[in-house]
Amino acid sequence: MRQVGITTTVPIEIMMAGGATPVDLNNIFMLSSERDWLLSRAENFGFPNNQCSWVKGVFQVARETGIKEVVGVTRGDCSSTEKLLEIFQMLGIKSIPFAYPADRSLPDLIKELKKFARRFRTDLGKAEQARGKLSGIRKKLAELDRLTWQTNQVSGFENHLWLVSASDFNRDPARFEKELEAFLKMAKVRPAFPQAVRIAYLGVPPIFDDLYQVIEQMGARVVYNEVQREFAMLKPARNLAEQYLKYSYPNDIFYRVSEIKKEIKKRQVHAVIHYAQTFCHRQMESLVLRRALELPLLTLEGDRPGPIEARARTRLEAFMEMLAK
Ligand code: SF4
Repeated sequence: MRQVGITTTVPIEIMMAGGATPVDLNNIFMLSSERDWLLSRAENFGFPNNQCSWVKGVFQVARETGIKEVVGVTRGDCSSTEKLLEIFQMLGIKSIPFAYPADRSLPDLIKELKKFARRFRTDLGKAEQARGKLSGIRKKLAELDRLTWQTNQVSGFENHLWLVSASDFNRDPARFEKELEAFLKMAKVRPAFPQAVRIAYLGVPPIFDDLYQVIEQMGARVVYNEVQREFAMLKPARNLAEQYLKYSYPNDIFYRVSEIKKEIKKRQVHAVIHYAQTFCHRQMESLVLRRALELPLLTLEGDRPGPIEARARTRLEAFMEMLAK
């Protein structure tokens, strides 16, 4: 089976229609027991200390897994991607480009999807069939999301983990669906989580292992994982182009804010945590979010994988105390 690495959400329906298995390198990095070693190896290779850990982790995972091809999103994801792709090229790892249009233009997006389909020797008709197979799983994930904010039977961490895993459906959509069904069956009959304070988590997934659990210990609970929900593509869409047009992450912050506001209202959120990775250009998004959202907002920063760092924990405690007053 042709395995193709991905470093963010891309039209996996097209890849699958072309006979490839998408492999999310971020998820392999985050679930690895050797994360520190992977980062040290990337740094020994020459990556600077002041480079985002996700970039270094993804790079090293690609090397360790021996993956031969990687999809690189050249617009709408990470400012480091273009350089990362050049380093891959130097190592003989082929890069397959995909770009989200800057202005959410439907015709431009369709052009990009067609170009991407040609790279996988398939077409959008076949990709629609692949989309149909995944749409049942996406509906079940939407149900999981509803159980997170409406009945409070799914924790913020469970929500995060399931939604973030939908980037490649853990490389086996059929098995993923079975496991998801079993999880939903269990979650639907358990009592609701008791935490009274409802939090929206915005920004890229956290590098900390225990952030959600620490928030719960402090009497609050994440009921909205913004980017993870976008990765999982839970919004109803009539076709592939519409599905990717509705995907807010590659778009400007103002479009994202309009989505965030809708969800915050629906989920009765009390406060917002905006997570930003150290050395990431997306840290600046906090400036806009703080002004655009009429809720208390805490910006948290994380660098290396592991438990929440002491400074971030202290800031989180102070924020929770302020909310409790
Ligand atoms: S956290 Fe920021 S710098 Fe790091 S990979 Fe993601 S977008 Fe790029």
